[in-house]
This record gives sequence, structure tokens and C-alpha cells, in this order.
Amino acid sequence: MDKIKMQTPIVEMDGDEMTRIIWKMVKEDLLLPYIDLKTEYYDLGIESRDRTDDQVTRDAAEATRKYGVGVKCATITPNRSRMDEYHLKKLYKSPNATLRSALDGTVFRGPILVKGIEPYVRTWKKPIMLARHAYGDVYKNSEIKIGVPGKAELVFTERETGIEHRQLIHDFDGAGVVQGIHNTDQSIENYARTCFNYALSHKMDLWFSTKDTISKTYDGNFKDIFQEMYDREYREKFEAQGCTYFYTLIDDAVARVIRSEGGFVWALKNYDGDVMSDMLATAFGSLAMMTSTLVSPSGAYEFEAAHGTVQRHYYKYLKGEEESTNSVATIFAWTGALRKRGQLDGIEALVRYADALEKATLGTIESGFMTGDLAAITTLQNVTKLNTEEFILKVGENLRNELS
Ligand code: NAP
Ligand code: MG
Repeated sequence: MDKIKMQTPIVEMDGDEMTRIIWKMVKEDLLLPYIDLKTEYYDLGIESRDRTDDQVTRDAAEATRKYGVGVKCATITPNRSRMDEYHLKKLYKSPNATLRSALDGTVFRGPILVKGIEPYVRTWKKPIMLARHAYGDVYKNSEIKIGVPGKAELVFTERETGIEHRQLIHDFDGAGVVQGIHNTDQSIENYARTCFNYALSHKMDLWFSTKDTISKTYDGNFKDIFQEMYDREYREKFEAQGCTYFYTLIDDAVARVIRSEGGFVWALKNYDGDVMSDMLATAFGSLAMMTSTLVSPSGAYEFEAAHGTVQRHYYKYLKGEEESTNSVATIFAWTGALRKRGQLDGIEALVRYADALEKATLGTIESGFMTGDLAAITTLQNVTKLNTEEFILKVGENLRNELS
């Protein structure tokens, strides 16, 4: 069989620890036998980031913007103990944060559904994609601990005229806390546009929810920007596809999400998205079965697994002990990137290959072969637990059948 040819490269970002081991296996066993893989390789492993003072991450972000499709392995976000472990020059920013800000992107997270791994919520039949706004609010706050009586005020000074707008926050009689947060219309508009485009391209409904009954101005601004953009630019396109945009109060949304059967995009403000994405990941069954896609308003896509580098398994692997790490989300990061590349470049064979690899992966699990994390929660009987490499090889076997 001839290998599939590519035109434009995919930006390949290698990573750390157990996921770096998986990365190599997936490429060697599942991709390279079938594809003349064309990637622009960036090593975002912690040693390479340290060696280049993190320039390699910035270059990878730039390349993703240029070529439009990237795929990323999980990476270490250094903290103090990582700094000692790897003798780092400094505490580098999370590579994901660098990518997000370079691409001004929105992160969409979604579960990989498979028979035998049942969501805790019985009504959920289809994926719920969560879109988290990734700028501002409490993540760029400014806060003061107050120790003595005094007045806290919100002050805005116009740059041109120096005119001040003041509002009392609270007149403190004793100790307390105060916090200031912000967002910009530019960022909210980019976010809204990315959500509308994503929902359209996946033919899904879009839900958006905030607490605008309490925060009439701040959350109200988010609500208005979404609604105005929908009416102006998207209503017709949504209606033509039989899809809807739906705004509701976050409390109501939470109740409806639990009762729903899934199959929509749920857009949330930064903090709500942070919290709800962990809830959704757990409720769908496993963190190891979540994908994460960074979408920029300019149309660039970066695909990755939602989980981290699985450090505990890596240490076992280094000691030569057997480990059973789930590679499904990493495989789906690759299929996401290959499918997108295929669609953008009009390479039908690449799209078909991505479909086949996903089918082979899910088929492997559904026929009872899986890694330990899934074996522990599956509803299937007579399950065979495989180690990391055995699972990937089994998927490879099924892929060969699928393709022939
Ligand atoms: P983690 O790597 O996601 O792992 C947490 C635990 O979840 C694991 O110990 C394991 O549980 C389970 N798990 C996660 N992925 C799994 C998989 N594919 N197969 C089987 N089990 C899996 O999170 P972490 O331990 O908090 O973080 C480790 C490193 O990853 C940190 O340095 C962090 O900075 C980084 N990280 C990177 C990203 C990213 O690049 N996007 C995201 C999150 C974290 P058991 O040990 O019980 O088996
Ligand atoms: Mg969180």
C-alpha cells in the first residue's frame, strides 16, 4: 500500500515524561507505517525549553499560527520541585498559556465516548464540548486584604481627559477583602466568534451562560456581545443548519446540562469553564478520555490530550516496572490534527485515515482490550488489561484490518 502523502506540515510539539514515551510509540506504530508524515518538529520537553530559554515554545506557537494546524504532547509546567528535579534556570510559563496567548485562542474540551465506559449521568448520549474563555476575570485580578476600617472604591480614570468615575464598593468597619477584575470587549468578541464558528463547523447547538441577573453590567456585557454578534452575523447560518444559539442563566444551564442528552457546545466564562470542565471530565468517566482543542479566531487549531504527563506512571516506567497508561487522548490529538490538515489541504485519504484510526481505537476498547484506568471502571465483562505498549500494538492490529 502506498503511504499517504501530505502537502503542508503539521506543527508537532513533543513533550515530557510518560506522554513523551507514548508519543513515540503512537508515531512509530500507528502513523509512520501509513503516512509520509510531514511535520515541523518542536521539542517542548522541559530540557529543550530550558536550553532555549523557552524560545522553542514561542517558535512553535508562531509556526502553529503560520501553518494553521498543530498537535501537542503533554508538557511539564514547572513548579519549585520540578525546578530542582530538572535543574532549571527558571520557572517557565506553562507552554499551554504561551500558546493560548500567542494564538488568542479558546480551548474546547470534549469527551471521547465509547461503549463500556458509561457517563455517570445516565441521560448523556452525545459529547458535551466545553468552551472556556481564556482571558481575564479572576485570573488577572488585583486584590487587597484589608486590616483596618476604611473605604474601598472602584475608580476609572479616562486616559485623554483625566475624568474620574467612582463607585463605592464597601465602607469597611473592620477587616475584610476586596478584589478588582476586568475583561475587554475585544477578547470577548474573539471568544464569541470562535464559539459560533466552532459550533457551526461541528453542526452543534451553542449554549452560553453567565450570572447576568446578579452581575448586570459585567456579565450583562458578555451576554450582549454574544447576542448582538449572533443576530448580526450568525443567526442565518445557524438557522440554515438547523442549529440554535441559546442563552440562559448559569444555574438554569447546569440543571439543563444534567438533564440533557448532550450534543452541544457549552460556552462559559473563564472561572465557570475552569470548574465545569473538571466536573464534565469526571462525569464522562475518565480524564484520560478527554481531548482539548485550542482554536484561534484566525482559524488556527492546536490539538492535544487534556491530561498531563502522567508522572507517577513515568517513574514506574523508569524503574522498569510495568505500567498501563491510556494513549487514547494522545491518539485522538493526532487524528484531530491529521483530519483538519486533510480537510484544509483537500487530502481525502488523510481524513479517511483519521476516521479509521479512531474507529480502530474505539473498537479495541469495545472488544474488551483496554488499559488499567478503563478496566477499573468499564461495564464490559471479560476484559483484558493491557500495558501501554500492548494497547497501542492492539490498536495497530485493528487499524490494519480497518484499512485493508
Ligand atoms: P496528570 O498527568 O493528568 O495525571 C494525574 C493522574 O490521572 C495520574 O497520576 C493518573 O492516575 C491519571 N491519569 C492521567 N492521565 C492518564 C492516562 N493517560 N492514563 C492513565 N491514567 C491517567 O496530572 P498531574 O499528575 O497533576 O500532572 C503531571 C504533570 O503534567 C505536571 O508536571 C503538570 O504540570 C503537567 N500537566 C500538563 C498538562 C498539559 O500539558 N496540557 C495538563 C495537566 C498537567 P493514577 O496515578 O492514579 O494512575
Ligand atoms: Mg480546573
